[in-house]
Amino acid sequence: MAATGENNLENTGNFLHNIIKQDLGEDLSRIKTRFPPEPNGYLHIGHAKSICLNFGLAAQYGGKCNLRFDDTNPAKESTEFVNSIMEDIKWLGFDWEDRLYFASSYFDRMYDCAVELIKKGKAFVCDMSAEQMRQARGTLVTPGEESPWRNRSVEENLDLFARMKNGEFEDGAKTLRAKIDMASPNMNMRDPVIYRIAHMTHHASGDKWCIYPMYDFAHPLEDAFEGITHSICTMEFEDHRPLYDWVVNELDFEVKPRQVEFAKLNLSDTVMGKRYLRNLVETEQVDGWDDPRLITLSGIRRRGYTPESIRSFCDMIGVSKANSVVDTAQLEYCIREDLKPKTPVVMAVLDPIKLIIDNYPENKTEMLTVENHPENEALGRREVPFSRELYIERSDFEENPPKKFFRLTYGMEVRLKGAYFVTCTGCDKDGDGNVTAVHCTYDPATKSGLDFTARKVKGTIHWVNAATAVPAKVNLYENLVTADETAENGYALNPDSLKVMDAYLEPFLKDAERMQRFQFMRHGYFIADSKHHTKDNAVFNRIVSLKNSFKPQ
Ligand code: ATP
Ligand code: MG
Repeated sequence: MAATGENNLENTGNFLHNIIKQDLGEDLSRIKTRFPPEPNGYLHIGHAKSICLNFGLAAQYGGKCNLRFDDTNPAKESTEFVNSIMEDIKWLGFDWEDRLYFASSYFDRMYDCAVELIKKGKAFVCDMSAEQMRQARGTLVTPGEESPWRNRSVEENLDLFARMKNGEFEDGAKTLRAKIDMASPNMNMRDPVIYRIAHMTHHASGDKWCIYPMYDFAHPLEDAFEGITHSICTMEFEDHRPLYDWVVNELDFEVKPRQVEFAKLNLSDTVMGKRYLRNLVETEQVDGWDDPRLITLSGIRRRGYTPESIRSFCDMIGVSKANSVVDTAQLEYCIREDLKPKTPVVMAVLDPIKLIIDNYPENKTEMLTVENHPENEALGRREVPFSRELYIERSDFEENPPKKFFRLTYGMEVRLKGAYFVTCTGCDKDGDGNVTAVHCTYDPATKSGLDFTARKVKGTIHWVNAATAVPAKVNLYENLVTADETAENGYALNPDSLKVMDAYLEPFLKDAERMQRFQFMRHGYFIADSKHHTKDNAVFNRIVSLKNSFKPQ
């Protein structure tokens, strides 16, 4: 298991670390955590933070972390989501071993717990409608009103609750409520509903149940059943903690789990909520849950991110109770740092125009030997064909260049990476005045690898041999959303989030396998698409550009 979280936990006296030490004393290996996803969508980068934290803490102290599907709400859950969640957690590098649990498998025990509360006089069946309950709830400054059904006898409550379970009542006709305190300053303690009637088919338990426990009742029970010591969750549950503790205390569990909150991860210019992502997928505004523009784990996997880079990102951002927005540039920094030392550097022309070397022999092709990485010699070398006609980037030629343009323009000499110096002599144009090809001459004495010091050039450009070039679709991405104050959630889809280039790649890439990564010189890191790439129809996605706007401290 990857020991994530080590550095920032050890070095910053992270508050979670302190709480755990305080609670467990010498025997830190007693720690038991859980990751409790609701199977109603695919996991996103925010969940990765929670996964790294829960599995990471347990691993660090030699304890255990459970995977528990929190499937107590039958409405939106499915086995597709269950499977994708397991795949994503494994991909991130974590292992729940034999500790896979489903909250729905506890429905019988939860029902028994509710019965126990009724017997203790701590829960009652209420006939108020949702609207009546809302009205009787009071406000932050005024107490609520007690339900007229609050003082039903234990016998009557037991009978009604059993009949709720047996399907005698319509959805919403009755609820089971905890009997706590309608005057509590904490609204969550004002006789909260703990069971509701819902005639729905559950993805695991089928039609066995028509009553379902509410999250605030179910979650502490699940934790207690599994012997969880620390139930780590996000800040919005802070106000629910008194209810969590109430449930655990009223039911006399041997190990009383403790809820500890931390701040959610937010990323700049990114929308993470499962509801939003689900809408994008269902309305086909993106290419499935694994669209490389999405911040789902399956999306960033297809985009080309490595599990190592996600784990190091989660380490780097640390854990706190203060809400903040992390700059997406920091995530990009982590993937660049991970890929830089181990990814071969190759040449690809994304917006091609022909370069014709007029003084190079017409039927000649020479094989040039080029290193695969400027520093990592273990990545070896490769042969790159060179001949009279090449492709270069359209933007590497300018008829009327701005100042300090050190690429191709009339009379200017540049280095073709790994090959020769060439001097621009002119260009061809079509009837509309668009440049269709660039002409140049080469100097045979400047061949790469020769000890050539007579003159220097300021620019080096990449190229691809025209006759052997591999055509490819190359996907370039921008943020999927841009801020839009007029939109309901503050975001609008960015119409430029995907740009598809008809590119040419050097022949070395002909045998690239799906998910293989390369640096395309001057363009960034790319991956062969896991869905659409084939040997005959190459498709590459840009993982990240080379431009870095984040500086680690
Ligand atoms: P979303 O708000 O995206 O729909 P959720 O909280 O409803 O997510 P769950 O499946 O309930 O999704 O989440 C599983 C675990 O992941 C929970 O413990 C939750 O607190 C945690 N989690 C969800 N989003 C984030 C986030 N942005 N940062 C850190 N942890 C998160
Ligand atoms: Mg949730």
